[in-house]
Amino acid sequence: MVVKEIPLHENLSMEARHLNANTSGASSRATPTTTTPTTTFSRVYSVSITTAVLLISFFICTLLAVGFIVYNFATCGQLTAEPGEDIVCTSVHLRHKSNHAQNDQLPKYDRDVRLPQSIQPLKYNITLEPELSGNFSFSGSVQIRVRVLQDCYNITMHAEELNISRSDVAVYRVLAQNQLDQDSLRIHKQYLVGAKQFFVIELYDKLVRGSEYVVHIQFGGIIQDFLQGFYRSSYKVHNETRWVASTQFQATDARRAFPCFDEPALKAKFTLHIARPRNMTTVSNMPITSTNKHDSIPNYVWDHFAESLPMSTYLVAYAISDFSHISSGNFSVWARADAIRSAEYALSVGPRILSFLQDFFNVTFPLPKIDMIALPEFQAGAMENWGLITFRETAMLFEPGLATANSKQRVAAVVGHELAHQWFGNLVTPSWWADIWLNEGFASYMEYITADAIAPEWKQLDQFVVNELQSVFQLDALSTSHKISQEVYNPQEISEIFDRISYAKGSTIIRMMAHFLTDSVFRRGLSKYLRDMAYSSASQDDLWRFLTDEAKASGLLDRSTSVKEIMDTWTLQTGYPVVKISRHPNSNAIRLEQVRFVYANSSKEDESLFWWIPLTFTTSTELNFANTRPTTWMPRTKVYEIENRNLSTDKWFIFNIQQTGYYRVNYDIDNWQAITQHLMDEKHFEEIAPANRAQLIDDVLNLARGSFLSYDTAMNLTRYLAHETGHVPWKAAIINFNFIDSMFVNSGDYDLLKKYLLKQLGKVYNEVRFEDSRSDNEDILLLLKRSEILNMACHLGHQECISESIRHFQNWIQTPNPDANNPIGPNLRGVVYCTAIQYGTEYEWDFAFERYLRTSLSGEKELLLTALGCSKEPWLLYRYLRRGIAGEHIRKQDVFRVFAAVSNSVVGQHVAFDFLRNNWQEINTYMGSQITNIHTLLKFATKRMNSKYQLAEFEEFLRDAHWDYDRPIQQIVEQVETSVDWMTRNYKSIVKWLQREVGST
Ligand SMILES: [Zn+2]
Repeated sequence: MVVKEIPLHENLSMEARHLNANTSGASSRATPTTTTPTTTFSRVYSVSITTAVLLISFFICTLLAVGFIVYNFATCGQLTAEPGEDIVCTSVHLRHKSNHAQNDQLPKYDRDVRLPQSIQPLKYNITLEPELSGNFSFSGSVQIRVRVLQDCYNITMHAEELNISRSDVAVYRVLAQNQLDQDSLRIHKQYLVGAKQFFVIELYDKLVRGSEYVVHIQFGGIIQDFLQGFYRSSYKVHNETRWVASTQFQATDARRAFPCFDEPALKAKFTLHIARPRNMTTVSNMPITSTNKHDSIPNYVWDHFAESLPMSTYLVAYAISDFSHISSGNFSVWARADAIRSAEYALSVGPRILSFLQDFFNVTFPLPKIDMIALPEFQAGAMENWGLITFRETAMLFEPGLATANSKQRVAAVVGHELAHQWFGNLVTPSWWADIWLNEGFASYMEYITADAIAPEWKQLDQFVVNELQSVFQLDALSTSHKISQEVYNPQEISEIFDRISYAKGSTIIRMMAHFLTDSVFRRGLSKYLRDMAYSSASQDDLWRFLTDEAKASGLLDRSTSVKEIMDTWTLQTGYPVVKISRHPNSNAIRLEQVRFVYANSSKEDESLFWWIPLTFTTSTELNFANTRPTTWMPRTKVYEIENRNLSTDKWFIFNIQQTGYYRVNYDIDNWQAITQHLMDEKHFEEIAPANRAQLIDDVLNLARGSFLSYDTAMNLTRYLAHETGHVPWKAAIINFNFIDSMFVNSGDYDLLKKYLLKQLGKVYNEVRFEDSRSDNEDILLLLKRSEILNMACHLGHQECISESIRHFQNWIQTPNPDANNPIGPNLRGVVYCTAIQYGTEYEWDFAFERYLRTSLSGEKELLLTALGCSKEPWLLYRYLRRGIAGEHIRKQDVFRVFAAVSNSVVGQHVAFDFLRNNWQEINTYMGSQITNIHTLLKFATKRMNSKYQLAEFEEFLRDAHWDYDRPIQQIVEQVETSVDWMTRNYKSIVKWLQREVGST
């Protein structure tokens, strides 16, 4: 799944929702599906027609009997059935919609929520009849063929917020020749275990090891409006509402759509039968094999889908819509009819990337087709369901001439990410969520490889360093960070590890591995792993084994080491090292010392973690920034020495070529000064590769931030930026100065910082200039660089940047029919909208909001939502936040964007924190009661807090709200604490340095 493109969007909602569903609809929605089981039985279980007919008649006859028995024995864990209700086993949350505040608290999960190991699902046959209007209920049935691995009396599976009536459950033994026993097994009890989301069928008859059974369950539910499980969304065509029903199951939400064994390692084959209105279409993982009329619902037809390959429940998907599609061979893209043209770009890159990946992995794509669909509401960025990839619109649609260069790259990246999952994740799946980093890290790495394959001119591999590695370095420098391979138990913990550590750190250490193993060994090992483990599940140790074998066969690793030994230090330990490298006087020895890099001063001494570190380096005479294969390794020890004459005699050296290793490098002061001197040389500084210039900037400023060296040394190095015009180094500089900016913005010396940065920006600003071109063949890197430089310049108060922005925006206001005619070039819109709204009044704000409401381009909507947060008027910002959770004009998927936008300025951050403090319960309910959503919002609203007073205020709020001090909260607190500490330690010395550099004011 892609969750990262909105930095705030780190978590998917996984948890129990308080439904708006009316409870009385429960009985009416359990429409009997008497016709479908007949067809589906013969399809999956090869039961003869006669047997099927017999079976069905018997089944109907026994329903009453079974129902009677079950009724007398069933207990529904913690549930008290209300008189007159025939629905017995249903979720607490669905049925007992609470009017009491205390019941809004989250249900506590049990620590251990794993299914027993006694039953293995083999095949699912699922029928679904969704109602795409009215109360949006659905009814369905599932027949699961299972194999018993240990004698037992229980069948334990998952179900959440589904209505299952006692009489709708039956279990049959499979006899020889795949016949089903005519007698169903005697059921003793059926009940839910809410804290585990289990549905348990307890039998009188023993389930015998080695035998197979068929579990039949009928159920009903609501197609909800929270963006998980089986959910609905809508869009408008000429004021008419059109509905779309689709799914998002990762990680633990398939159980909300049908009862199932909802763990990733429990792979099975799925056959789906979905009823739909005649005028709509259904897509699913597999192609449709036949369609026929529905017997009882007028204007409905059944779509019958081909049986899938063995796969995990979280990868099952279906979508019912009135969308249009375009195809290239067996590759199709789907979108709203009026947006389908914007899907052409995705269709042009999709098949190319798919074929590149087949070659890369050397494993044929096993499915007969791929569909990609852009949904009007989608929580994450995209989801890799096997054969049916779902996207939010902005991650799949690109309108040439109207969208930014950035959104083009994003579409290519997300398509690459999800297609890579078709192998890495779908064909071979992590055995448990603890290893989700393998999936996400790998797909995130492949985003860059696939983009580089289809558009080498984008230089994506250089951008990797700033976008992934340096960005996750910041999070992973908190002492409250976590291991990449993290044991997780319940759905909330599972949801929490879909974070930057799994994605960005995961991709970074995979990239490091690809470099130390070399491309060919890496790919051969992967290919063998994918072939050998296909259709099954694996852990990181399996991957290490294949890569070790390949590395040894190629003579890359000697007998004493293994990929596991090296990689365990990166996946099973929290954080990353900084290596301090210094020369010995009068010898060829170079001393290396590793220590965990953390910002917080206090925890440094406690750390005794060490890593296996691949060492690459070059010197002032070699200037070789191409060789990323390690010359040597720093073993897992604190101090290590190497002998190298060049290192000891050359003017300077730089370690970690192309920043392929996941570590920072610190040098002795002489080496830092010599590097700085080289960078200051306008004619020669480009001899150092762009990725390494970005590394130097990021390392030196963060080393200063963590008190590993002085800010004087760091700021001295940044002086060279006055002649730097490279995109990647500047991006690294902008990210790092954003931090210093966010600390200075609340202080009396902010003008010094602005003055210095504007001076440094001079040359690159003159190169990019305030202009935009709509021509398709303009250098995309220039477009990206321009938008980043202009954003920073306008933010710092660059006069021309501001006046040009305002002029462009006023032009737009004056344009007749501004919705159809926008004179501002797409790549300038971000900075123009934001600056004009920041310096404007209610009038500009309302104009922009009006445009937001009218445009049907999802990318344009996103730009406007971000810009609307730029206002300096508190009341406008409060009104905006209020609208953000009103559910009227702003989609639920965009709430995070609204909060992030508002939090992005000093004024806005106060407003956002205040709003959150006063309304968090309401927000929580609107977002679906998942506390991790609030955590994400809090992270934004606290970014600039750096005084003891603010910290105390924040902690008081946490106490009043009675929140658990879990990891996300600890991280926010640590962030604020280190900022407070940073101000005490560094503020004055930076001010002094700035005064020397730009003169006191
Ligand atoms: Zn992913």
